Amino acid sequence: MIDRDRLGALLRRERATFAERNPRSAAEYERAGHLFGRVPMTWMNKKAAGFPLYLATARGATVTDVDGHEYIDFCLGDTAAMAGHSPEPVVAAVRERFDTLGGACAMLPTADAAWVGDELTRRFGVSRWSFALTATDANRWAIRLLRAVTGRPKILFNSYCYHGSVDESLIVLDSQGRSVSRDGNVGAPVDVTETSRVAEYNDLAGLERELAHGDVAAVIMEPALTNIGIVLPEPGYLEGVRELTRTYGTYLVNDETHTFSAGPGGATGAWGLQPDVVTIGKAIGGGIPSAAYGLSEEFAQRVENTKNLDLIDMGGVGGTLAGNALSIAATRATLEHVLTKPSFDRMSEMSAQFANDVQRVIDAYDLPWSVTQLGARVEYRFAKPAPRTGTESHAASDADLEDFLHVYLANRGILLTPFHNMALMSPATTEEQVERHHKAFEGAIEELSARRG
Ligand code: PMP
Repeated sequence: MIDRDRLGALLRRERATFAERNPRSAAEYERAGHLFGRVPMTWMNKKAAGFPLYLATARGATVTDVDGHEYIDFCLGDTAAMAGHSPEPVVAAVRERFDTLGGACAMLPTADAAWVGDELTRRFGVSRWSFALTATDANRWAIRLLRAVTGRPKILFNSYCYHGSVDESLIVLDSQGRSVSRDGNVGAPVDVTETSRVAEYNDLAGLERELAHGDVAAVIMEPALTNIGIVLPEPGYLEGVRELTRTYGTYLVNDETHTFSAGPGGATGAWGLQPDVVTIGKAIGGGIPSAAYGLSEEFAQRVENTKNLDLIDMGGVGGTLAGNALSIAATRATLEHVLTKPSFDRMSEMSAQFANDVQRVIDAYDLPWSVTQLGARVEYRFAKPAPRTGTESHAASDADLEDFLHVYLANRGILLTPFHNMALMSPATTEEQVERHHKAFEGAIEELSARRG
């Protein structure tokens, strides 16, 4: 059990250290009065220590801040920089496209796109790809196609999933098992229960109950939940989802934006899954905004055969910058040279070492916590055994404990991902960096427990 008084005192001490260490970041935050919330985007106010660190430089798995501190970056832009920061092949491709050749936004396709389409098909199976700049938009546009083709109004999500700021996805099950809007949902266009259904992850009976209404166009899911800790599928669950969706004429969408960490073809490739649609964003651009959605041949043909869909002008699918030449050049370089099979093998090795270290500390201090690995991604959760649904995992949140660990580690040159206790490995991450995390993490737990393990 955590001694709350001790935790409170340690958190105050670490926040004071953080403020002392980072006067320049504090000053930048202070003077940004014309930014809404003082930050470029309001989510940057998710700050464990009172103000965010301001970025100076980043390369590989290392970043520096404006106060001159160096950090081992296990956050990696919450997966947007899973390829490492500014990897050389992507820098070269961006330089060539934007500088040598010139042009990002000419409203003309480039030959790189066909290469990327071929490669995404090789990795994820589904065969016809379209591009976006964010995973949110990839999901949004996929949803439009899914509704258009099926004529069904609803999309089903898992409780406590995250798929970006997609209106339909902000639905959870409450303690009575009723479908309700997620807490804090900002300005919902309509009651979310009109557009969506919800089931617990790992609950096939619950899923079937919802699909049986016959009004669900698609299930959109992460093959493993990654946005409420990592929740892995129980044996038979994903096969059951595929079977049930086929039975009820509902399409299945795998959002691989985070589960891409499982391997070169994400969880879809690693576990031999057969979704009808794959959506993916963030990491595939190597740090440049890029996202994609891929359709199975059958689904693509159904879209093409559906009358009166304006896919070219103002029908609601597409954005001026989507598929731009710069984004596609970066995506090609990332897939061709950086996030390759050998890189994933190495990243998974580093990640296994990280998870192992955390487990040893959990065991030594007899903590009721669990740690879960998904390829290059590791997350620990304040629950044991590991939660098996989003709701269970949500119930294990502990804001003060999470903030303490984040600030303690930041004060010792280590960044975890805000909103998570998540660590991600890039191709540049080293054993020595993982070991430094281990030492610092053990130090935090030792102080928290006030006894030796
Ligand atoms: N899908 C998943 C699974 C995600 O984790 C996220 C973001 N964390 C998104 C979609 C949305 O990505 P973006 O914010 O880049 O649109």
